[in-house]
Formats: sequence, structure tokens, C-alpha cells
Amino acid sequence: MDDKFMLMIPGPTPVPESVLLAQAKHLIGHRSGEFSEIMAEVTAGLKWLHQTKNDVLMLTASGTGAMEAGIINVLSVGDRVLVGSNGKFGDRWVKVCKAFGLNVDVIEAEWGKPLNPDDFKAKLEADTDKTIKAVLVTHSETSTGVLNDLKTIADHAHAHGEALVLVDAVTSLGACSVPVDGWGLDVVASGSQKGYMIPPGLGFVAMSDRAWQAYETSNIPKFYFDLGPYRKSGAKNTTPFTPPVSLFFALQVALKMMQDEGLDNIFSRHAKLQTATRAAMKGLNLPLFAADEVASPAVTAVMPQGVEAEKIRSIMRKQYDIALAGGQDHLKGQIFRVGHLGFVGNRDILTAVASLEATLAQLGANGFTPGAGLAAAQAVLSA
Ligand SMILES: *Cc1c(COP(=O)(O)O)cnc(C)c1O
Repeated sequence: MDDKFMLMIPGPTPVPESVLLAQAKHLIGHRSGEFSEIMAEVTAGLKWLHQTKNDVLMLTASGTGAMEAGIINVLSVGDRVLVGSNGKFGDRWVKVCKAFGLNVDVIEAEWGKPLNPDDFKAKLEADTDKTIKAVLVTHSETSTGVLNDLKTIADHAHAHGEALVLVDAVTSLGACSVPVDGWGLDVVASGSQKGYMIPPGLGFVAMSDRAWQAYETSNIPKFYFDLGPYRKSGAKNTTPFTPPVSLFFALQVALKMMQDEGLDNIFSRHAKLQTATRAAMKGLNLPLFAADEVASPAVTAVMPQGVEAEKIRSIMRKQYDIALAGGQDHLKGQIFRVGHLGFVGNRDILTAVASLEATLAQLGANGFTPGAGLAAAQAVLSA
């Protein structure tokens, strides 16, 4: 029953049928007027999603490519940067920065806990010589299900005056509000297989005016990811290199779908799915890895006790056709993660929770009442 397969992981996320079908269309030339019309439409849609007037550029890359492009276009070799890390993706920012010879100052928090904005404030205030060129933050830390306080950290960077704000918004964009202009975010990276509801392959980078000023002096070598040509071509609704045309068809349909739903409705849907998922886990006495106040709207991490996370995942996959994500690095085997990002609705949560209850029973887990998770989720979803 292959087609029954249900992705409940934080990327790739489920893709609507209308979007899948859009990709089946015959290709068109990317130098055609028809393509430019699509490009104009999706560019406007991307600005709407990012709540920005800034450029939002499209790259043929996954989310990491967009992160890398952000770094190499606004920074220079040896620049001092403050990087927040409280999970796998914060660590990735650190790795990319180091790969390009930046002078990295890491601000850490335990996995499962949020970054402390005061740690950023202290370093930024102490930097009276203005040596810190950028602050890099993962908004929604997918590996642990923690949402970092991006706005407060960005405010501290603005008070510093010099530091740019670079954001990994890969699993927050399209799940909760990321007001790029409102929060003064200079570089915002995301990827198509997350909140966009389309397959992997497109990376997005939003660039502020301040980011473009920094671009002028950036000396890190670049070619394919040099954002200058993307901006120049983008102004004429075209691309410097051959774009993934079929993904543009998909993006056009997905953005239209998002606009029909409306930003506020998208955010409240995700908030409700998140609350229902968490209520279900609490109802089943399954410990949540992140606290309610800092929980990501895109993914919920659960640390089961007395039953193996990997056994839960295996039965869910084999007997219920539901894919859950596992833990990464030292959390491998310790947690499972439920994705509720993008094309996800009430029905999906109830199905996943009911299947999880059956799985726990099959594994002989005790300490939970069958039906309690479902009742808790239903109470949230029907409110
Ligand atoms: C998925 C993800 C990325 C990008 O990963 P890719 O595999 O390169 O698309 C980056 N940051 C976060 C927080 C993510 O969830």
C-alpha cells in the first residue's frame, strides 16, 4: 500500500496532490515570457510569505545551500560572528561559518532548551569596538523542537548597530510569523521541502538593504551562489542559470494555496496542530523534550520512557504507514519527532495519535490509558 504512506516528519513534508500534478506538466523554456510570468508571481508570493519588501532570491539548492549563500555574500574572511547553537542546525551554522574562515564565537544552550537572548546581549554590549559582524540564529531548531526567541536576539543585534542578523527560518517560515521587515532580519534562509509544501530542491534567501551593502565588501570567493546575478536577473523576472522549472510550477500552486488560506489562518492552524500533538503526548504520559513556552510550531520531540523510540517508529512505519522522525546525533534512539509542518490538518494528527496508541499497546508499554491521547487531541481540535 505504497500510496498510503504518510509523512509526519519535519521535512520533506507532505505535498498536496495539486502541487504534485503541477510538476507533471511539460517543461517550458526558462527564457520564455511564460516562465517570467511565473517568476513574477512566485516572487510576489515569496515576499508576502516573508512579510517583506526585500529581495527574496531562489536558488537551486536545499536549505543548507541557502544558509551558505547568506554567509558568503555578506561576510568576509576573518569576520567575527556570534552563532547560537542549541541543536543540530545551530551546529550547522557553526560548521558553515568555519568552512569559510570566519572567526566563530558560539553561544550554546543545552539541546531541548532555548538560546538565552541575554547571552547575546552581553557579548554584543561588551563589543564596543564593533568587531562582531553578524549574529546567526536558528529560529525553529528542528532537531529538538525548540523555537528560539529570534525577535529579542535580533533587537540586541540592532542595539549593537553593526551586526547583521542571519536567520535559519527553514522550519519557522510558513508555520509561524517571521516578519522579516518588522523584526529587521537581514538574511533569511529557507528551503522548499519544509513549510512550502513542495518537494526538495529550491532554497530561498531574503536579503535586506543592509545585507546588500555588506555584499559590496564581502570577499569570500563565490560563483554559483553569488547573489548579485540572482538579484540582477530577478529584477527582469529571470534567473542567471537554468532553474528547476518543474519546482517553479509547484511553487506557484503552493503559494496560491497559502495565499487563499491567509497568513493568520496558516499560523493558527499550525498552533492548533502543535497544541493538539502536545496535549496527546501529555495524555499518554509521554515526556515532551521541549517546554510548552518554547515549543516549535513545526515539530514536536518526544522522549519516551520504558519503550524504545526506534521500536515505536518501526511499528508506526510498518503497520500504520506513518513516518516519524528519529533523534539526531546523541539523541539518536532517545527521541522521536512528530512533524506537523505544511500540508497537515486535524485528520493527520488524530490518525497519528490513534496509531501511536495502538503501537504503545503492542509494545506492552504501561503507564498510559488507551484513548487518553486521542481524547486530549480531540478536545484541542474541536475547541
Ligand atoms: C531542514 C533544515 C535545514 C536545511 O536542511 P537541508 O537538508 O539542507 O534542506 C536547515 N535548518 C533547519 C532548521 C532545518 O530543519
